[in-house]
Amino acid sequence: MFDLIKKKWKINIIESGKFKLDGGGMMGSVPKVMWNKTNPSDDYNRINLSMRCLLLDNGKDKILIETGIGNKNTKKFEQIFCIEQSSFPLKDKLKSFGYDLEDITHVILTHLHFDHAGGATVKINDKLKPTFPNAKYIIPEKNWTAALNPNPKDRASYLVENFIPLEKFDQLVLVKDNEKILDGISGMACYGHTPGQQLIKITVENESLIFCSDLVPLKSHLQLPWIMGYDLNAMQTLEEKTKFLNEAADKKWILFFYHDPKTIAVKIKKSEKYFEVIDECLVNG
Ligand SMILES: [Zn+2]
Repeated sequence: MFDLIKKKWKINIIESGKFKLDGGGMMGSVPKVMWNKTNPSDDYNRINLSMRCLLLDNGKDKILIETGIGNKNTKKFEQIFCIEQSSFPLKDKLKSFGYDLEDITHVILTHLHFDHAGGATVKINDKLKPTFPNAKYIIPEKNWTAALNPNPKDRASYLVENFIPLEKFDQLVLVKDNEKILDGISGMACYGHTPGQQLIKITVENESLIFCSDLVPLKSHLQLPWIMGYDLNAMQTLEEKTKFLNEAADKKWILFFYHDPKTIAVKIKKSEKYFEVIDECLVNG
């Protein structure tokens, strides 16, 4: 599925860990009798979610997109979200692909919610510091501002320990909406989930992979009305997702999912109702 992208980048799919969120929160107004078939819940109504980061390596730049939930969490927090991962997930996972934390040159974050940015910093001897000492951290400016002045609805998702150290250590690079980040890599801004979230578009020749982050968190969200209850503005998500998925179908973009526990990526086409998957890359084959 990634043939042209692989001509330029070595692609490493980094499953940083698993966690769970409330199924109703993830599916918004969709009734449980429908979503429980595709995303079955546990006794606490929580559904399985992955935190699937992407590491791109062209021999010079080693670019990590997203950082998982990190390892600074309390026991209580780990229990609430049923976090399953190693004690230092990014270090361990990168090691298994032959990389050290020091090797990473760029960390791109789509937004600063804790399940995406938690791994950006670590606490060592009670001191917070960036997890990747040699990396620039590329963050959407509008989302940085939102994280510092959060809306009461998603305030609990912005934990300052995950991002303030990046500025203190002078590793922060703020980018504008839709700005080019590196050659062939740019952001795609959207606002329905939280202000200034950037999807990441990676293009090689006429193939593009989009890191869909929380605009399309699960394969189930390819159905247009399936919109997270967590989103600050559901109608804006609906508009943004409709435009995005139509373009993805027309241009045969590869859609890469951060949160889907089974499906890594898909290509879609328009169907009578919404969209139909025409090619699918699954976890373990
Ligand atoms: Zn998320």
